[in-house]
Amino acid sequence: MTSHSPALRTLDMYIDGQWVKPASGQYFETVDPFTAQPWAMVARGGAPDADRAVRAAYRAFKEGPWGKMHPSERAKLIHRLGTLIEENADALAEIEVRDNGRLLAEMQHQVRYIPKWYYYYAGLADKIEGVVHPCDKPALSYSRPEPLGVCVAIVPWNAPLLLLSLKAAPALAAGNTLVLKPAEHTSATALKLMELVEAAGFPPGVINVVTGFGKEVGEPLVTHPLTRHVGFTGSTATGAHLYSLAAKDVKRVSLELGGKSPNIVFDDADLDNAVRGVVGGIFGATGQTCIAGSRLLVQRRVHDQFVEKLAAFTRKARVGDPRDVRTQVGPIANKMQFEKVLGYVDIARQEGAELLIGGKRPDGAECAQGFFVEPTIFTGVNNKMRIAREEVFGPVLSTLVFDDADEAVAIANDSEFGLAAGVWTRDMKLALRMSDRLEAGSVWINTYRDISYTTPFGGYKKSGIGRENGVEGIREYLQTKAVWLSTA
Ligand code: ADP
Repeated sequence: MTSHSPALRTLDMYIDGQWVKPASGQYFETVDPFTAQPWAMVARGGAPDADRAVRAAYRAFKEGPWGKMHPSERAKLIHRLGTLIEENADALAEIEVRDNGRLLAEMQHQVRYIPKWYYYYAGLADKIEGVVHPCDKPALSYSRPEPLGVCVAIVPWNAPLLLLSLKAAPALAAGNTLVLKPAEHTSATALKLMELVEAAGFPPGVINVVTGFGKEVGEPLVTHPLTRHVGFTGSTATGAHLYSLAAKDVKRVSLELGGKSPNIVFDDADLDNAVRGVVGGIFGATGQTCIAGSRLLVQRRVHDQFVEKLAAFTRKARVGDPRDVRTQVGPIANKMQFEKVLGYVDIARQEGAELLIGGKRPDGAECAQGFFVEPTIFTGVNNKMRIAREEVFGPVLSTLVFDDADEAVAIANDSEFGLAAGVWTRDMKLALRMSDRLEAGSVWINTYRDISYTTPFGGYKKSGIGRENGVEGIREYLQTKAVWLSTA
């Protein structure tokens, strides 16, 4: 980390409708994971900046025009922001790739889909209705949902703009104001989004972005007395820590945390289809998604055949420059994560797992600089090994074998996580019985990694609290007020 490199452009924070420098006066490098070179300097925010942003959001909520606006007027602004994201999708995708190394084609696709969240929740904004209760007292008693106030959204580096939008769109539609904190490695798209927020005409303070490190600027946001909700996507360890901080002031939280999701392949499955799903599930986004299908459970009768097909398919995957349309697997997003993934490869070997393919940096000049790890498959894994229990967040697949559905369920559920699961079979009764028994917030049958703005997403067990997307997603950002009017 350096304090300021004059050769690189600097990115300031966006607070109360202004571009502001950090109170510390310090900036840190943001690095392109393909070249391993810094490309911009990001403001290193701290507690004073967090305070300034939360106060601005609070003022906008309490005193600004936002609170007094009819929901249909707020909806217009949210919709306009969606349109601006659509118009600027390619530029946003470019920035995202420069910060996190995801494939350009994949990020273009993702960013073009993001406006749907803004359109969907803009549509809900003026449909938040109350209830008149059949009261047993001489009174008119009704209740209505109200916004919470200042919401803080803290997101990781794997899909910054998407994960931020999953929080921002419903929070704003419910009438709240926001402070966003992107991950320190990937701050640039959130800041670019603020140019669009300004262009859309949001009043100052409604949406603010502070940048910097978790402990330095994230914690002061969470513990700020005026913060009423914490929306977080990231690791279970950090989520649990923020949950305990929020608990001190009884703040609401929505947590989307880690996973060790099983992909279960039965012997009657369309194996070629399952291979594609399993590969996309674990090697898509270079394995850096909370929903990565990182445990592959294969029924014994087809185990060897399936693993062979899988290895053959995976060997063909082109690893390299994320901006090259032919590339199928890009780099890991940052150096720390790169080292962590290779560390897990060593751990798996020491535990006795068999390395089928991968396990190192790919050969060749294209991958010599960046944070690359080959798509890696281990076989002979048992569910007690760390490689089967801990979230790697990289392109590392652990393969386990099972005999029948009962054993598959037992292995799948023997995890502290419960984010997602995949089931591959042609037998729909079996698939539905499996979906009943799996402890997971999403179960995909003959598909994997699908998400939509319409469908609730979230985790069982240590994978999280609350749900994003759909009508359920907006309830996270509302509280109920009951009113009694005496008729006695
Ligand atoms: P990962 O990058 O493994 O998902 P985290 O879950 O730690 O890591 O990070 C997700 C987000 O949480 C990032 O924006 C990070 O800066 C933030 N963060 C990390 N630690 C804290 C903390 N103590 N307080 C607030 N935010 C944090």
